[in-house]
Amino acid sequence: MDTDLPSLPNSLEARDRRSLVHGLTDLARHLEIGPKIIESGRGVWVSDGEGRTYLEGMSGLWCISLGYGQERLIAACEAQMRKLAYYHLTNHKGHPAPIELAEKLLEIAPVPMSHVWFANSGSESADCAARLCWYYWNAVGQPQKRKFLAHDRAYHGNTIAAASLTGTSYAHEGFNLPLDGFLHVATPHYLTGAQPDETEEQFVARLLAELEARILAEGPETIAAFFTEPVMAAGGVIVPPEGYFDGLQRLLNKHDILLVADEVVTAFGRTGEMFGTTRMGLEPDLIVLAKGLTSAYIPMSALMMNARIFDAISAYSGRLGIFGLTMTYSGHPVAAAVAREAIALYEELAIPERTKALEPVLLGGLRDRLGGHPNVGDIRGTGLLAGVQLVARRDPLTLFDASARFGPRVAALAEDNGLIVRAIGDTIAICPPLVIDEAEIAQLVDRLARAIEAAAAEPG
Ligand code: PLP
Repeated sequence: MDTDLPSLPNSLEARDRRSLVHGLTDLARHLEIGPKIIESGRGVWVSDGEGRTYLEGMSGLWCISLGYGQERLIAACEAQMRKLAYYHLTNHKGHPAPIELAEKLLEIAPVPMSHVWFANSGSESADCAARLCWYYWNAVGQPQKRKFLAHDRAYHGNTIAAASLTGTSYAHEGFNLPLDGFLHVATPHYLTGAQPDETEEQFVARLLAELEARILAEGPETIAAFFTEPVMAAGGVIVPPEGYFDGLQRLLNKHDILLVADEVVTAFGRTGEMFGTTRMGLEPDLIVLAKGLTSAYIPMSALMMNARIFDAISAYSGRLGIFGLTMTYSGHPVAAAVAREAIALYEELAIPERTKALEPVLLGGLRDRLGGHPNVGDIRGTGLLAGVQLVARRDPLTLFDASARFGPRVAALAEDNGLIVRAIGDTIAICPPLVIDEAEIAQLVDRLARAIEAAAAEPG
């Protein structure tokens, strides 16, 4: 047992402050307050070093979809480590695990896909998707198609190109990003984006008209691809309104712009379908996968591409003599074996169907308990991915001033109640492991509701 007390100089909290740089964290404040150390997990629950348990309402970072303690994933990892701990995919070498995984991914792909490329994180796969789009347009003799479009609240990762695709300012500020040619367009979020008296239909029509005007102003012949998440997760759990993606797809087809679906959060059952692409009716040329691919038991990401892309890039690499995109751990056998087993579990446990059945339990539970609360302006989501938008007033709808930090306050109070959620501004994001049951969803809703009620009762 760890007998260190947080205040002792050799406690984990103190050692963390002396040794680690944390992401998405105010580093100066971290030096003062230190971390909450999570030591173990089981199912949808995690425990800290002081014996307190928390319902992990965010699956960590939207990723541990099969929950903690999945023995089959652990066994798959161990067995593969014993058999072949490492091999690579360069210079015409192959090995069984990534072949089996790629075949399975192509079998379950939401739209016809041709081949799969592997990396280690969502950022790397999104980054390489951008590079692959450039390579593709060079391959087909249109090298001027170099620009990318993405939503201004999109999150596509944090390597240089992925962070440039990301719209949120924290990925750019101080880092000299975005790179030139990475352009952002309005996020299809009716609540925060609509003009007064605009219907949802009019809002969608306006956004699509603005997008087409932007494409024409930039020159369609200069635009390589549009990146989108089927549901924007880190941007505040934004489910685009009816008709938006249909219109987007039509514009991209019309102007010969590739579509990249970033399914890092939405794949493997999260939205109630195996892929968010199916749920939202997209027709991507490339699909980025990570997180749920291995249920976060080990890092791995993937990039699926259709035949249009693969046929062109393979012919081009034949002309160049090499396809230069390579990583030491691309197709790592241990990660691939874990991913293959994770997909077997998604199928055997009927996770997409289960998620679809639990969607009304989560969203209905939130709406029943919080729908009438004066500080709740919107409860949105799909599958087991939900956002509760906190507002200063419902009528007329008035957003909080960011300085009020109401969302972060609610998240902190939820943690006091034994529930981990994430405040994205004043949206509380909820993304529990997909193995959560109805009783645990009821606890999640109750703990969050009590946190919102407590925050609302605090002196303003
Ligand atoms: N794309 C989306 C939609 C994400 O949510 C994330 C991470 O949260 C990424 C890409 C980046 O993935 P990673 O953090 O594994 O690099």
